[in-house]
Parts: sequence; structure tokens; C-alpha cells
Amino acid sequence: MNLIRKISQSFDKVKTKYYTKYLYYKKLKSLTPGKESIELSKAEVDSLEISVKVGCGMYCDYCPQDSYIKNFKENYQNQERILTPETFEKVFQNVPNSTLIKWTGFTEPMGIPEFPTFVESLAKKGYIQDISTTLSGAKESQIWFSKNVNLFNRITLHLPDNKKLMKCNVNELYLSVFRDTLEHSFSFGWDDSRMVLFLIGDDFHPQVKEIIDEFLKNGKLKPVQIHKAEVLNTRNSNIELNKLNLENVTMREFQRDQDGMKNNIQYYCSYRRLNQGVLLPNGKVALCCQDYNLDYIVGDLKTETLADLYKKIENDEGMFNDFKNGKFFPCTKCEHYVTTDNSFSGHLRK
Ligand code: SF4
Repeated sequence: MNLIRKISQSFDKVKTKYYTKYLYYKKLKSLTPGKESIELSKAEVDSLEISVKVGCGMYCDYCPQDSYIKNFKENYQNQERILTPETFEKVFQNVPNSTLIKWTGFTEPMGIPEFPTFVESLAKKGYIQDISTTLSGAKESQIWFSKNVNLFNRITLHLPDNKKLMKCNVNELYLSVFRDTLEHSFSFGWDDSRMVLFLIGDDFHPQVKEIIDEFLKNGKLKPVQIHKAEVLNTRNSNIELNKLNLENVTMREFQRDQDGMKNNIQYYCSYRRLNQGVLLPNGKVALCCQDYNLDYIVGDLKTETLADLYKKIENDEGMFNDFKNGKFFPCTKCEHYVTTDNSFSGHLRK
């Protein structure tokens, strides 16, 4: 890695760290007495992640995909395992267009051919859409995406590594989709506020790296747009770091006492996921992107509104008390469940 890239990445990390702290202290000032724990646990804007199907063919080493598949099959026998246009239509009648839509969830969002139709329909209705994609999936979705990046507000390209932790098929189509996506993004002059390349691993897959180096060399891609994970989420204690053999990657420590409440200080979600659920293909919504076991289903968007779902915990006295006292399951399996004297967790950087 050259010196400029290293300096740029260090600066970016410092920026992320202090910006995260700034948001935390700004939020602290505006809290309603008695509701601190819940209010700190929500991001400024409601968002909804979308899982387009059950089961992703890749089975990357750091993804607890089997937990998601097993638990969906056990809990929802004979229910839709692929998001259909009918369910999509019903669900979005209950989601206001002020909601930030995140194409990510528990599987690759381009894994179905209907992906372009869904994105175009939401864009027409005025929803802002982000995406985190491996660039794999249904061929028509891959090609469409590379030519329609302008429909997205922010793009994260989660790319394959040199040790095949990500089980992505890097073939001619993949490389051409990657190159076209970069070309189209740069034709709009996008910087790191609109598009980043993300890696879990020591380095990029060699053929992907060749293209990255070419775009760095011609100055279209800036070093600050390359994010390498330094911290991995445990996905509610589902991932073991020592099995991955990753250098320079850690996991956050668990801070929760066995007995819940610590020194009379309330607990909260420092990842701010209480208003960032994950839509499943059958219309149900899982608590958050860490809950691959589907341990807590917030509700059903075919019949309830998103606003109602995101108030369920605070409106139920028992759940609310458990949540602030550090006893809410499945948050008790999550390293982001910490006391309110801890600042927000940044994304996958230290
Ligand atoms: S499981 Fe973790 S990330 Fe999800 S809501 Fe609970 S504390 Fe937040």
C-alpha cells in the first residue's frame, strides 16, 4: 500500500471516530427524560433493510447464512422465500417515502431478477435508496445495476478478497460489471460520500485489485474510497474470528454484565438499530442486521405500519424495562448493547 493511501485512510478513520462522537454528544443533549435508552438507540432517520430472499448461494466465511436459512424454514414453513411483486407492493403501502431504503439485509440484494423493477418503482415514489452489494446475483440485475447507479444515494461495493473468504465467482461478467459500475459512478464525479469499496480480508482478489489500481492510477478513484474492515460484527455471537485467520481485524468486546444492569446505568443499542429493521421476503421484519437467527421479529409490514413496528419495544412496559436494564433478548448476545456512557459504535472501523 502506498504512502498516500495510508495517510488518507488514517485521516478518514480519525474523521469517522470524531464524527461518531460528535453525533453522540449532540443526541445526548436532546433526550427526553426516561426515554434516553430508546432515543439513543435510534438513528436520525428511520430506515429499512431489504432481504430479497432466503439463502444466498455464496456462503462467505464471515456470514452466518445457515442460521438465517434454518430459522426462517423452522419459523415460516411454506411461506415465500423470495420477495414477490405482490408482497413488495403490500409492504410499501405501510412504509412512508421518508424512510431510507437499504438494499442489503441478510442476502445479496441483486440475487433476484426483479431487483431493477423494485428499485425503479421506489425511485418513482421518491424513496432514497442506498445499496451494499457484492455485485453478484442474477445476471440481468448485475448488468442493470452497473448502468443505473444514479438511482442510488450511496453505494458500497463489498468486494472479494485474495483468500476467498468471500465465495464470489470472479468471472468475465463480474469484472465487466465491476468496471462499468466504477465508470458510471465516476461519470457523475462521485466521491466517498456516494461510493466506497469495502473489503473484509487482507487484500482484494488479484483481478479485482488490477482494476482498482488502474482507477487509482488514473485518479478517478480516491484512496479515501477504499475501506478495509478493522472490526467485524459477531452477528449476535454467530461468528468466531479465530476461524477466519484475518490479520489486523478485531471484534468489539462485550460490555454487558451477566446480571444486566451495571452501576445503575441504562443500556442501549450503540449501533442505533432500533429503527433499522430487516424486511424478510414474507413481509416480516427482523429486529436488525445482527439478528441472523431471527430471534426477535418486530412485526409484519403486510399488515402493520413501519412507525408502529419501530415503537413496539418502547410501548411495551416489560420489553422497555428489559431493554434499558440490559436484559433484552437477543440484544444480550450483541456487542453493540452497551451502557449509555459509551458513545455510538462507528461502522466497521475502530
Ligand atoms: S441486536 Fe445489537 S445491533 Fe441489534 S438492536 Fe440489539 S444491540 Fe442493536
